[in-house]
Parts: sequence; C-alpha cells; structure tokens
Amino acid sequence: MSSLSTKKIDYKTLLILLLQIAGSSLACILYYFDYLSVATSILLGIVSMNLSFTPWHEASHKNLSTNSTINSFVGILSSLFSIYPAYFSKKREHLIHHKFAGDEQFDPVYPRIQTNFWLFLPNLIFRILSRKEKIQYNGLKLRKKEIFLDTIHYTLILCFLAISIYYQFFSALLYGLLIPRIFVFILHAIYICYFPHSKSDGGFIISKTPSTNLILFYLTLGQSAHGIHHENPNIAWHSLLAVAKKRGRSNE
Ligand SMILES: [Zn+2]
Ligand SMILES: [Zn+2]
Repeated sequence: MSSLSTKKIDYKTLLILLLQIAGSSLACILYYFDYLSVATSILLGIVSMNLSFTPWHEASHKNLSTNSTINSFVGILSSLFSIYPAYFSKKREHLIHHKFAGDEQFDPVYPRIQTNFWLFLPNLIFRILSRKEKIQYNGLKLRKKEIFLDTIHYTLILCFLAISIYYQFFSALLYGLLIPRIFVFILHAIYICYFPHSKSDGGFIISKTPSTNLILFYLTLGQSAHGIHHENPNIAWHSLLAVAKKRGRSNE
C-alpha cells in the first residue's frame, strides 16, 4: 500500500528534484564563469541529470503528492531541466508500459529489448529514427490541455537554445545539459528499460529478482528493484530497497 496515502508531499522526491535542478544549473553556470572545465561540467551535468527520471516518474504515478497540479508541475520542471520535454506524453507512454507490461503488441518497451545487450542501443536508435516507436495503444488519451502544455515545453526549450546562441552562452548549455542528455538517455535506457525486463532468450520479464546492493540502489534511485515497482507502482522509490530486503529475508 502507498506510504503516501496520508502525505501531501513526498519531500525525499522533492529533494531529488531540487538537487537535479541545482546540479544542472551549476554545471552550466560554473563552466560559463570558468570555474569548471569541459570535462567536469559534463560530469556534474550527467550526475545531476541522472536524478531526473525519479521526479517525473514518481509524479506520473501520483506518488509525489496527493495534489495532481503539484505532480504535473514537478514532472514538467524535471523534464524541462533535463531537456526531455513533453512530460504528459512521456507519462502516458510510461503508464501504457505498466498497463501492458510484457505485451508484445502494446507495451512500448517490449520491442526495444528483443535483442542482446550490445545491439540494444543501436536497435533503439534505429527504432526512433525510423519512427517505429509510435504507441500502438489508443487509450489513455491526452487531454487538449496536456497536448498544449507538451507543445509549450518544446517551444520553451527551442527559444532558450536560440537565446543562448544569441547571447553567447550556448557552450555552457552544451556541456552542462546537452551532452549530459545523451549520456543520461543511454544510462536510463539501459537500467530502466533493458536490464529490468530483458531475457537472454528473447521475450520479456516483468519482475526480475530485485537487487539489494546499496550502491546500485542509489546510482539508479531504486530502479535496481524495478520489478517491485511493477508489482506496486505506488511504493515510493526510496521504500523499494526495504521491500526488496524484506522479501530477500522471507525467501531465505
Ligand atoms: Zn518497467
Ligand atoms: Zn513506473
């Protein structure tokens, strides 16, 4: 059962959002004022942006707050600061993944992982470029307001990039945000999409045995226990490790 049923806001997730925004902003600003090298700016950008999945993901499952406006606001902010716009479309895709987990036709993750580890990324990039990532399910439609807000996200990011070129701070965005975006896309695709669901002989696994490794848990913010999340999407990310450990003890 959700640990948030009586809570207004999950402050641990909110802290993750603040760390993400502060870290990414510092990666750009400190590079701009020559306090960081290219490499350290990119590294700080990657570490900060790696946090970005958790705020919008918890918001998508209404785990962040009992107030839907707060969930949407946090989801949008996290998406904007990770240059990964269109929160509502991403949320819809993710909820369809949960609704049809392992379904060959409707789960968007299923076709992505029908390959070995080394071909996973080339296959994913090929699928994106050849427009094979189109969602097959017609339900869970976005409301007009959500489509409008997603469009605004793209517009805001494009305007900000244009302004950065005009006022000559594009290189700060490049090293603090844009290059980290590429690395984090790869990292998230691997540890949120491929590892939790892939099978060596093809197909799909919904609930792999969760890892209780503390380092892995914090590096992936709970995604090392992604299987438990599928069983109960309303367990907040920071409670997954305790659930995984408890399950491990009861299986001994
Ligand atoms: Zn999943
Ligand atoms: Zn989820």
